[in-house]
Amino acid sequence: MTQCLFCRIIRKEIPGRIVHESDSVIAFEDINPQAPVHLLVVPKKHIDSLTNLSKADRELMGSLFLTINELAKASHLARDGFRTVINTGPGGGQTVYHLHVHLLGGRQMTWPPG
Ligand code: 5GP
Ligand code: ZN
Repeated sequence: MTQCLFCRIIRKEIPGRIVHESDSVIAFEDINPQAPVHLLVVPKKHIDSLTNLSKADRELMGSLFLTINELAKASHLARDGFRTVINTGPGGGQTVYHLHVHLLGGRQMTWPPG
């Protein structure tokens, strides 16, 4: 059994504030939110990072981004805009090695990011 934190949330071994779940994708609130809305949109399949994506994941990634689209609308972020972020590897600031997309909104975002 993998000890991966997000796999454990997916298996409901540890609590997560889940806002969406399908066969292949789950979304839950970030424990340390950086914006009024801060969701993590996560493939249920364990993939370490974007670097480890394969062609077999093509349909899964389509489902993931369609879920982001739906969640952005459901969270009333689509009109004003929102930020999606994928941190990859140490240089990208990734801390949890299970691929996830941050969906952030509800405040004005700035650029460049930190
Ligand atoms: P990363 O730094 O890998 O891009 O993002 C990992 C995110 O996971 C961080 O924003 C962090 O706040 C969040 N996180 C870490 N531990 C937990 C947890 O136990 N539950 C939830 N919901 N989020 C977590
Ligand atoms: Zn995992």
